[in-house]
Amino acid sequence: MTNSMEKLPFLPFTRPSIDEQTIAEVADVLRSGWITSGPRCQALEAALSERFQGRPVRLASSATAALELALRLCGIGPGDEVITTPLSWVATANVILAVGATPVFVDVDAATRNIDLARIEAALTPRTRALIPVDLAGLPVDRDRLNALAARHSLRVIEDAAQAFGAHWAGREIGSFGDLVSFSFHANKNLTTAEGGCLVLNNAQEARAFEKLRLQGVERFPDGSMDVEQWGGKANLTDLAAAIGLGQLRQVDAFNARRRALAQRYFERWDTSLGFELPPADFVQSNWHMMQPLLPRALAPRRGEFIEAMKAQGIGVGVHYPAMHLFTLLRRLGWRQGQFPVAEDIGARTLTLPLFPAMADTDVDRVCAAIASAVRTLQG
Ligand SMILES: *Cc1c(COP(=O)(O)O)cnc(C)c1O
Repeated sequence: MTNSMEKLPFLPFTRPSIDEQTIAEVADVLRSGWITSGPRCQALEAALSERFQGRPVRLASSATAALELALRLCGIGPGDEVITTPLSWVATANVILAVGATPVFVDVDAATRNIDLARIEAALTPRTRALIPVDLAGLPVDRDRLNALAARHSLRVIEDAAQAFGAHWAGREIGSFGDLVSFSFHANKNLTTAEGGCLVLNNAQEARAFEKLRLQGVERFPDGSMDVEQWGGKANLTDLAAAIGLGQLRQVDAFNARRRALAQRYFERWDTSLGFELPPADFVQSNWHMMQPLLPRALAPRRGEFIEAMKAQGIGVGVHYPAMHLFTLLRRLGWRQGQFPVAEDIGARTLTLPLFPAMADTDVDRVCAAIASAVRTLQG
């Protein structure tokens, strides 16, 4: 590579954008004397609720916590089965295991890389209680088919929309409709609070039940007394985190517009002769949480070398995700190689390229040039 290229700063696959105003507002919280759950959390819940057509929203310390408590809210536990995708962050299965239920995987669709809705009915049993769809990379699962299927079989839907903040289905924003919807505010997500998440619920009763699950099961009464009727955990968000979230919420639509523009540039600059498979070119519904081409099959066994060759050119490439049913934890429950060939193939070839709002157009060009160079290096 040329010297000029080596001098460029390292380009990570993602980086949060926190503006000075937000930093000042976090400092205000630190000076206020009230740093854990308080007025900022309430303000963020109210702002999110307004965004989601008035549906109640409750914050949590992570999306993992929100999902686990959502399962508990639905009364799902030992003996119950929950259907989900093998192509997600392992949190999606871990929350099902956390409540003592059984995760049941269904292969993904090769084009969308999301759960293949046509295969769900074959996986239903009398024990199936819920579906956890995942909008991988922010490309939404077909909500019309999903919700019709759930209604037909009386299943709860707990949307793992961790990656889908600002994504839309048929003109409606994800979160503004459906059953329970969880978002993640982890540092890498389109809207961050460093760590955090939320659950969009159906009504005030569910919201109150979630509040108790989130904080030790405690119910406080106007006279200052309290009672605990049922188990609750510890999954509240801090006002420090909520202050970051309020700042992010002011900018998230601009962030997502910038992500879409950068994704579009990837498509324009892409050298199709290299044989990679690009994700669906959806510049309307997806929030472009990630840009994920699949390596050509011939190079799949050499993904590690490809990532190293990119790193040598100052470019960070991630892997989100290997098919999770092949993790030891899930193999121990009986899941095996060969059961979900589409997810296994995508999981073995997927790459996450740099895509974040502060990136320059020329960064996309740089990544595209580096990919061509890395392929040449591998083909030696
Ligand atoms: C990030 C993520 C989670 C977990 O979110 P946390 O806030 O880190 O707990 C769950 N599912 C998916 C699909 C994710 O991308």
